[in-house]
Amino acid sequence: MIRFEHVAYSYDKIPFIEDMNISFEKGRITAIIGPNGSGKSTVIKLLARLLKPSRGRIILKGQDISSIRRKLFAREISVLLQSSHIPDMTVEQAVRSGRYPYQSFLEPASHEDQLITEQAIAMADCNWFREKPMCQLSGGERQRVFLAMILAQDTPVILLDEPTAYLDINVSYDMMELIRELNEKMGKTVVMVLHDMNLALNYADQVILMDQGRIVSFNSAADQGLHERIGETFGVKIQSVSQEEESQFYYLKR
Ligand code: ADP
Ligand code: MG
Repeated sequence: MIRFEHVAYSYDKIPFIEDMNISFEKGRITAIIGPNGSGKSTVIKLLARLLKPSRGRIILKGQDISSIRRKLFAREISVLLQSSHIPDMTVEQAVRSGRYPYQSFLEPASHEDQLITEQAIAMADCNWFREKPMCQLSGGERQRVFLAMILAQDTPVILLDEPTAYLDINVSYDMMELIRELNEKMGKTVVMVLHDMNLALNYADQVILMDQGRIVSFNSAADQGLHERIGETFGVKIQSVSQEEESQFYYLKR
């Protein structure tokens, strides 16, 4: 579905990513993990076209993403960034603005736009504060609105950079369950950066481990080799402490 071909990226002319090659398959959930500054957000921004590779190409459905028209691209890929600008709008207006790739300047919002906006507000559980201005929300509420905006944008590919930042543990699990549901029921392709190893290993099909601008490993989440690499990269010991029917819990220790 999406392919990095020999992608390189430099910050201030200093090469950071050199020759990255990777494929994100349709209908999969991929987690990107790695220490601070390893390049996770850079990869998300390259995928979202917010950064342009200095060499190589990123291919979406056979097409170089740099050649796709803006609105068409916005119908394919939506992104929740690590730090987003807070729009000067109410929650409802913000979520409705997620429909922009489907609207033209002259046409008012369609019935479908309205319907999908309502669904997005309900799914992300934003209904009770929908009239509030965005600037008055807590970090966790704001994060849910950003997710609702993505749901309204209704793209086959969803990129999330630390979506559970600001969320307490229960709401984090709610968000992961919702992402899983979007993936299973609607076939969304998800690429998400996660800080929490338990969430990454339990909710992703495959895990990309990054370090210093490079991909150290790209494995299925269940792969034992991945767990060893995580231990080496973060300098910790990782141990599975219990195994239930559906989920495992990992214990990381220095
Ligand atoms: P991560 O998301 O894994 O923490 P990032 O992709 O944000 O890492 O950053 C990777 C590296 O690039 C870091 O060393 C960071 O300092 C550097 N970097 C990120 N953004 C910029 C920027 N705008 N200008 C210069 N260096 C940057
Ligand atoms: Mg980051």
